[in-house]
Amino acid sequence: MSVIVLVEHTEGTIKKKSLEAVQYAADIAKKLGTTATAIVAGNVAESEMQNLGNYGAAKVLYIGDNRLNQLHARAFTRILVTAARQEGSPVIVALHDVNGRAIAPRVAVQLKAGLVSGALSSPDMSDGFVVKKSAFSGKAFAFVNVTSQVKVVMLAPNSFPLVKGEGSAVIENLTVAFDEKDFGVTVQSVDQITGEIPLSDAELVVSGGRGMKGPENWGLIEGLAKELGAATACSRPVADAHWRPHHEHVGQTGGTVRPNLYIAAGISGAIQHLAGVSGSKTIVVINKDPEAPFFKAANYGVVGDVMEVLPRLTEAVKKFKA
Ligand code: FAD
Repeated sequence: MSVIVLVEHTEGTIKKKSLEAVQYAADIAKKLGTTATAIVAGNVAESEMQNLGNYGAAKVLYIGDNRLNQLHARAFTRILVTAARQEGSPVIVALHDVNGRAIAPRVAVQLKAGLVSGALSSPDMSDGFVVKKSAFSGKAFAFVNVTSQVKVVMLAPNSFPLVKGEGSAVIENLTVAFDEKDFGVTVQSVDQITGEIPLSDAELVVSGGRGMKGPENWGLIEGLAKELGAATACSRPVADAHWRPHHEHVGQTGGTVRPNLYIAAGISGAIQHLAGVSGSKTIVVINKDPEAPFFKAANYGVVGDVMEVLPRLTEAVKKFKA
């Protein structure tokens, strides 16, 4: 018996959020008196898989099929269901992200398992299996007791602190009997976004809203982000107006970020925006309106014009680094 966890990678490099998921699965396994098994599919070097031992995986089940370098929800479902049955897994962990959302519910249906999405912390097993998760677009927390025998947990990225330890994982091959239909979707091409820090992995984010007035002023956001080594993000109207690409839009209908620092420049702080950023550890708001709702969610606030505050902040960071 072991707790299994689906591991994601980008061109063979295991994603940071998957290391978190492995550590999370290992934590659950320890509470259950068992071990964690990481499921890795596609082209991944042995050293990358062995590194999972440092985050608590006792075993890696590997399936090195090239087709699995891309998301095929049916194929990945079959992999997880096969592995869960083979391992007699009481808990299956996936990420609460685009891939996890496509795979985890299918796995839950096939295993007749209860599913909890957006998990924020390790389950409390003192009386059941109670998982804390965000609810009402991040405005509240819910505590869900999963009572089914088999449980699927989707972990929200950036919610379980990553601590590298020392350990080793045994790597074994996993055999799965695929059906041709599992690969029914063909990816024609992939547009790789290069030179940017991926928003989902970013620990620092500088974000702009309609208060930035137009795309011609985005150099101010990018300048500060460059000095800080931060990713850039934006509010939805900014993406809708094509000032910024849609993958930068955060909020209820966009991405969710949980960085250590989120700087919001010229963003009002509507509930739909907060839904995607309220998990940030520290929020700094720059807005010329002292009544802007975002100030209520901020740890630090600057009442001022972004056109003046951003260049001064960038200069201050430059001086601090010098
Ligand atoms: P505004 O509301 O126009 O605010 C601009 C702010 O900039 C104001 O507070 C203003 O005081 C300030 N400002 C103006 N000039 C300056 C200046 N020179 N210096 C400093 N401050 C200045 N929004 C999202 O962001 N993400 C979502 O995922 C999302 N999903 C939605 C889903 C639904 C179903 C709906 C109905 C709405 C959604 N929205 C979403 C839209 C959301 O309700 C807000 O309209 C949006 O977040 C506002 O964007 P904003 O703060 O950039 O613009």
